[in-house]
Amino acid sequence: MKLELKNSLSVKLLRVVLLSALIVGVVLSCAQIVFDAYKTRQAVASDAQRILDMFRDPSTQAVYSLDREMGMQVIEGLFQDDAVRMASIGHPHEAMLAQKTRELQHSNSRWLTDLILGQERTFTTQLVGRGPYSEYYGDLSITLDTATYGKGFIVSSVIIFISGVLRAMAMALVLYLVYHWLLTKPLSRIIEHLTEINPDRPSAHKIPQLKGHEKNELGVWINTANQLLESIERNTHLRHEAENSLLRMAQYDFLTGLPNRQQLQQQLDKILVDAGKLQRRVAVLCVGLDDFKGINEQFSYQAGDQLLLALADRLRAHSGRLGALARLGGDQFALVQADIEQPYEAAELAQSILDDLEAAFALDHQQIRLRATIGITLFPEDGDSTEKLLQKAEQTMTLAKTRSRNRYQFYIASVDTEMRRRRELEKDLRDALIRDQFYLVYQPQISYRDHRVVGVEALIRWQHPEHGLVPPDLFIPLAEQNGTIIAIGEWVLDQACKQLREWHDQGFDLRMAVNLSTVQLHHAELPRVVNNLLQMYRLPPRSLELEVTETGLMEDISTAAQHLLSLRRSGALIAIDDFGTGYSSLSYLKSLPLDKIKIDKSFVQDLLDDDDDATIVRAIIQLGKSLGMQVIAEGVETAEQEAYIISEGCHEGQGYHYSKPLPARELSAYLKQAQRSNAAIL
Ligand code: C2E
Ligand code: CA
Ligand code: CA
Repeated sequence: MKLELKNSLSVKLLRVVLLSALIVGVVLSCAQIVFDAYKTRQAVASDAQRILDMFRDPSTQAVYSLDREMGMQVIEGLFQDDAVRMASIGHPHEAMLAQKTRELQHSNSRWLTDLILGQERTFTTQLVGRGPYSEYYGDLSITLDTATYGKGFIVSSVIIFISGVLRAMAMALVLYLVYHWLLTKPLSRIIEHLTEINPDRPSAHKIPQLKGHEKNELGVWINTANQLLESIERNTHLRHEAENSLLRMAQYDFLTGLPNRQQLQQQLDKILVDAGKLQRRVAVLCVGLDDFKGINEQFSYQAGDQLLLALADRLRAHSGRLGALARLGGDQFALVQADIEQPYEAAELAQSILDDLEAAFALDHQQIRLRATIGITLFPEDGDSTEKLLQKAEQTMTLAKTRSRNRYQFYIASVDTEMRRRRELEKDLRDALIRDQFYLVYQPQISYRDHRVVGVEALIRWQHPEHGLVPPDLFIPLAEQNGTIIAIGEWVLDQACKQLREWHDQGFDLRMAVNLSTVQLHHAELPRVVNNLLQMYRLPPRSLELEVTETGLMEDISTAAQHLLSLRRSGALIAIDDFGTGYSSLSYLKSLPLDKIKIDKSFVQDLLDDDDDATIVRAIIQLGKSLGMQVIAEGVETAEQEAYIISEGCHEGQGYHYSKPLPARELSAYLKQAQRSNAAIL
């Protein structure tokens, strides 16, 4: 806050002092002037008396001897004095012996001085003879004009007045300076420092002592204020600490330091709002220990507490994957997994928690095994509110305990079954390769230049001993997750190359397209594997095409570009699969070493009913051409679809319209058939 000068104390003082000094100066000057007036009047009288005294003897002489001439001489003598306006000598009852009058003097200040001194004043003295009889002869009268005195009076009055006022003002100025120097200036410096004080940390900025004021009131004031600020800060700090610990007590579990149920509810509320906006899934896992009561009874409650603490630490180890972790009370904990895509992610977390418990807890030289049961609910499927999700997760957990323990259970039975199946599949997947349960099918790719089969795409199949054929959409993600995709992928490449060699030997000039998972793409060994296979099976370069998905590439553009480059160097072609479903930007596309774009089947299938899809297909074909890439459409099922993409200039097509994916032997037959009909046409 800036102080305005007109509001400053010293200016106010200046005003007050100036005004009062002026009043006092004026009053005192006036008093002096009044006194001066009185003295001037007295001076008139004493002057008159002196004159009369001086001329009394010659006048007496003149009146005694009735000498008119002498009388006139006396009168003339009197008139030497400028103030004398009229003079007379003579007996009051007779004609005057001698007499003279002159005009009143002219003066500008008369109007004023006449008021104070009178216009003129007459003085008379008796002319008395000497000797014992003292005979009375007459009077000597003079009338004095006050103008002469008036002028002097006015001059001295003005001087008195002006000097009085000036003195007063000088005093006021000196006072102002003193006041400003001693008080206002130090005060405003203190104010400056006060404004720099941070209200949250009041003692961080101390008000410095002012030089020369250390011992006076200002110095004492500054010291006291500094002490006050310090104690304010101390108190605020204490209050904050108290508030914080209250808050902790209200929001955190005393034993484990984890958030309590209340805090969890708040956190989950927020997570659900975000998930709702982003349309993501959230999983709530309620973990309950199996038979914790028994442990408490067998050991002690302290031992139980120690176990809970150790358990909390193990749960904390998962916090990287968690949106929230809390102790609900007793032996129950809750974990929130925010932003998941598939329910199996929750299943995996639950399983890893159960696996974690496999390791025993050490307690007083004893090894204790804990087991837990986990109830899982999913947002948005099982509920849209914190209360519902928590309540159902707890219910599910309690219910699961009554059946069998040491496992997890989803709230929805179908999800639960699916998860279990998934888990079993995942286990089976690890052995599928050794047990020879995979085989490849091949789907022809047709060139629209001459309608010949120019290539095939290898697609994997899993023949499960119990579940029958498992679709790759189901098990490939599982294989990617548990890492078996690397071995499976190498097997696919090997099989496909071997098959291609066979077909080449049979005289079919084909290209083999093989799908690559993103996990494979980022595997450092891949270029070497590809190179080895091409050499081993003596395959011409550019006869192997590797399909990578758009989304897989876009996750990490720069690494992907590097890996694609080294793959290409090994002699393989690169195609971008499922094009149009991801978010590739044109500039990225240009920076990647790609030979072919594969339009996703979802656009091809709807292109006759959906104008947007038709536009997208057309745009992708144009884009591929302008980047100098081959364009292939997948999922061509009808002649109409084929006609459209051909009319737009697409190079190749693949789909049920030509053939479903076929095992190698059947595809050989298909190729021979195609060869025959082509020959027939020719
Ligand atoms: P994808 O690479 O997009 O393969 C095309 C899928 O569309 C294949 O399904 C194929 O059978 C199917 N398809 C072909 N023509 C048509 C058609 O005209 N209409 C319809 N509706 N579908 C058609 P599939 O064989 O079930 O494969 C699914 C996905 O599994 C593949 O999609 C690919 O991403 C993945 N996959 C298959 N084999 C392998 C493999 O060996 N390695 C890797 N990493 N992934 C594979
Ligand atoms: Ca593909
Ligand atoms: Ca595809």
